[in-house]
Amino acid sequence: MSMRLLLLLALGLTSLFSSARATEDGHDQQDQAALDLLAEAIQFETVAGRSQVCPYARTLKARFFAAGFAETDTQIFELKEDDTCSLVVRYPGDDGERSPVIFLAHMDVVEALPQDWSYPPFEMTREGGRLYGRGVLDNKGSVAAITSTLLHLKASGYRPARDLYFVVTGDEETTAKTTRLLFSQVPALTTADYALNADAGLGVLNAARRPIYFQLQTAEKTYATFELTTTNPGGHSSLPRADNAIYELSNALVRLQGFRFPVRSSESTIAYFRASSKLYSGAVGQHMAAFAEDPSDKVAIDFLDQMPGEAAMIRTTCVATMLQGGHAENALPQTASAMVNCRIFPGVSLATVETLITAAIADLDVSVRALFQPSENPPSDINPAVIEAVSIALERDYAGIPIIPYVAPYSTDGAIFRANGIPTYGVSGQFIVYPEEKRAHGKDEFLPVESFLKSLHYWEALIRALSEQRK
Ligand SMILES: [Zn+2]
Repeated sequence: MSMRLLLLLALGLTSLFSSARATEDGHDQQDQAALDLLAEAIQFETVAGRSQVCPYARTLKARFFAAGFAETDTQIFELKEDDTCSLVVRYPGDDGERSPVIFLAHMDVVEALPQDWSYPPFEMTREGGRLYGRGVLDNKGSVAAITSTLLHLKASGYRPARDLYFVVTGDEETTAKTTRLLFSQVPALTTADYALNADAGLGVLNAARRPIYFQLQTAEKTYATFELTTTNPGGHSSLPRADNAIYELSNALVRLQGFRFPVRSSESTIAYFRASSKLYSGAVGQHMAAFAEDPSDKVAIDFLDQMPGEAAMIRTTCVATMLQGGHAENALPQTASAMVNCRIFPGVSLATVETLITAAIADLDVSVRALFQPSENPPSDINPAVIEAVSIALERDYAGIPIIPYVAPYSTDGAIFRANGIPTYGVSGQFIVYPEEKRAHGKDEFLPVESFLKSLHYWEALIRALSEQRK
């Protein structure tokens, strides 16, 4: 018996080599192996600062190694000072000259307090057709599904036509340093045609659990935070004056509240509103169609501005999120400051936003300072090859639904890939009732069992389609 097979037996993944056979609860063995991988993933408390990301990365690496991936093709990159790791798996293809395709996901999760949850957050609980546990949606469900698919393909002797990379990062929810470092650690990544991000995009079901559409994320707004500060000599509060740090800051915030950033549109947002207009009857659909036709249509803009999800798609937004000021209840404030969090329309610079904020608060003596330099990233062009592969991948379980490009108001590792010149597409294979079942970062995060198992079909078809596709 070979060393590799011995290891495999020790890891309990022999099922991957057997032909599909129903287990007690009706799944075939590949399904069961995938569920086991997910249960294993949830048990690692990969919250920042808990030293569990690297052990999880090593466990995943062992799974790949046991399935026949070479040691040199399963690399862990450790970031000692942050106590986190990333894992990069290369699935070698027949044509090493062709540019590779990247699949992207992350191992770390947001904190979950057991006392807040109805189930233990770091154990997978299966109940009522649902899988509960921190990370089942964001993003371990996808890590487990892609891992299971790659192990299954390897076991069946499949060879992709070109190199595939599975990049699993370790700090997406916090600093994304492992992601940034990858581009110097694995130069081949910079040659990729594009990356498929499992941490973005979504399949949407209606209340009757019928698939309605697939959201394919092509761009992300840039996350930035500004600090607005006022200062004043202060004095005794028994002798108030007209100049006052708190009132001046408040006035600036009120002006900012009334300010709207210029309306923007892009290939993706026009495609989004055009396709979405067909999903909504009445005024919503009409105004979406009108905006797609003419992004300067004032009536359509005013209408969409009343819907936070749509308003976020048509412009940069900034909102006050934190406030601080004064040093004693009986003293005039010497300083007051506010945090203003912005989501910048893709392609717009930080400097432009800073200029507009400063202009919006006009003559008030308020300092405006960006807290950090965000990774500005361009939108990715709608790529017909990716759309085609995704529609092939949806055929088995979700045939015929529209694939709608989407600009996310949030930010993921995809921003860093785009900033490094790699077009990136959010193509999560998870289907849920939206927004009711979207509990990522929240209490009792769950994924329907059916959605997880169908995502295995989806990833296998997607990986095959992309690996074999001729440009
Ligand atoms: Zn995520």
